[in-house]
Amino acid sequence: MKRSRRVILWFRNDLRLHDNESLTDAIDIGAEILPVYIFDERIFKGHTSLGFEKTGRFRTKFIIESVANLRENLRKRGADLIIRIGKPEEIIFEIARQVKSNWVFCNRERTAEEVKVQDRLEKNLWSIGQELRYGRGKMLYYTSDLPFPVNQTPDTFTNFRKEVERIVQVRPPLPTPDYIPYIHSDIDPGPLPKLSDFGKSEVEIHHIENKMFAGGEDAGLAQLKYYFWDNKLVSRYKETRNELLGWDFSSKFSAWLASGCLSPKMIYAELHKFEQRVKKNESTYWLFFELLWRDFFRLMGKKHGNKIFCFSGTRGVDIKAKTDWDKFRLWANGNTGMPFVDANMRQLNATGFMSNRGRQNVASYLVKDLGVNWLMGAEYFESLLIDYDPCSNYGNWNYIAGVGSDPREDRYFNIPVQARRYDPECAFTRYWMPELGHFSNHELFEGFVQTINEPDRKYRVEVNHG
Ligand SMILES: Cc1cc2nc3c(=O)[nH]c(=O)nc-3n(C[C@H](O)[C@H](O)[C@H](O)COP(=O)(O)OP(=O)(O)OC[C@H]3O[C@@H](n4cnc5c(N)ncnc54)[C@H](O)[C@@H]3O)c2cc1C
Repeated sequence: MKRSRRVILWFRNDLRLHDNESLTDAIDIGAEILPVYIFDERIFKGHTSLGFEKTGRFRTKFIIESVANLRENLRKRGADLIIRIGKPEEIIFEIARQVKSNWVFCNRERTAEEVKVQDRLEKNLWSIGQELRYGRGKMLYYTSDLPFPVNQTPDTFTNFRKEVERIVQVRPPLPTPDYIPYIHSDIDPGPLPKLSDFGKSEVEIHHIENKMFAGGEDAGLAQLKYYFWDNKLVSRYKETRNELLGWDFSSKFSAWLASGCLSPKMIYAELHKFEQRVKKNESTYWLFFELLWRDFFRLMGKKHGNKIFCFSGTRGVDIKAKTDWDKFRLWANGNTGMPFVDANMRQLNATGFMSNRGRQNVASYLVKDLGVNWLMGAEYFESLLIDYDPCSNYGNWNYIAGVGSDPREDRYFNIPVQARRYDPECAFTRYWMPELGHFSNHELFEGFVQTINEPDRKYRVEVNHG
């Protein structure tokens, strides 16, 4: 086939060849393709408004690995990946001019910083008679399949779930192409960057918790196979999902989902196959249920726009909190004196990962016990999490801070009660805080803090770790 159409395929948070709508569309229109990935210097070298690294070393490493794997898989199919560090709207514009492409295809982002970049690129492309075309594929569902317009998405998860789960079918994932028609040009593919190119130090892989968070589509698909088919762990997910210590208690799909190495539709298709061939039970349903949360928060981001990043949240609630750096630092460094909170924060600091149970508890502790501005916690998570996703992170923080989509206004995680229930032998706490090993379980549950009264709020202050 003679191919006269030329498409630059801009990979963003869709670092995969399976179920990639932009890639499929470009092939379907018979175009020659130039795949490109830009490490946006603002994201990989920049800082959040409070001064944290915007992308910490765990996620940076994961994404470098993911981009390396993407290039490998493209090369196996006759193509390559152009890799650069800089501003996508400038670099892609230059490449588009050089190769005289017709379009840039990419996955559409919906959160403010990403939208700004795609809008700037689109404007630049117009000046040379080219266009940006968007693909979809971040969610389980296509918004056009939903039984309501996006701006009328129910604001509580239960209502959302009930409206979609019985009516809307998840579409099958798009296939991985065997061959990708490539635009051969004299453009240098460019080297894969190292952590040091972004001013970050090497990551020491933690020998248990972190061993399998290897970036890339291949590693993501391998984890899917491991969790579903090799070990059938999904068949007891509902009973294990709140555990804290180890690798197997939950799917660990989040990092691959956030970078787009795994497509949610691919997970769903495999889950469906598993239910037909092996077992269908409450656990298999529950994994689907959790993936629905991910869609829900993305839809909240679409519906409420920048409100998810604002102090008063999607509901515009007038809350009180302090930007208290002293208390924040105790929390962030795992030094609050509440071992259950501190152990979780130390895990985050050492690995870039924390369980869902841990995230709920530490977030609640920061906001409800320490009375600290939730945005500080959310930005810290943004920096550190290996699986950071703007809608999931800020949506969950909105929820815990009581400014989001939680129908309960008084949700509070009582740390000693939670520690007793979810870490009954203190195995997790002792693992991350071996220096506290000689304390009794009771002491570890209750913690080493004093409660003092202030006129307007009860809060806890550190004394010391005994
Ligand atoms: C304060 C806070 C911040 C969070 N920030 C993020 C974030 O930045 N990125 C992120 O992916 N998740 C975030 N979560 C949700 C959740 O904690 C993680 O998705 C989960 O712990 C990842 O582990 P897993 O893949 O083993 O999850 P599993 O329990 O195996 O769940 C399967 C998948 O379902 C989705 N999921 C599960 N729970 C949630 C949830 N509450 N909200 C949205 N999606 C969910 C994830 O994609 C997850 O990979 C946050 C939760 C809290 C309370």
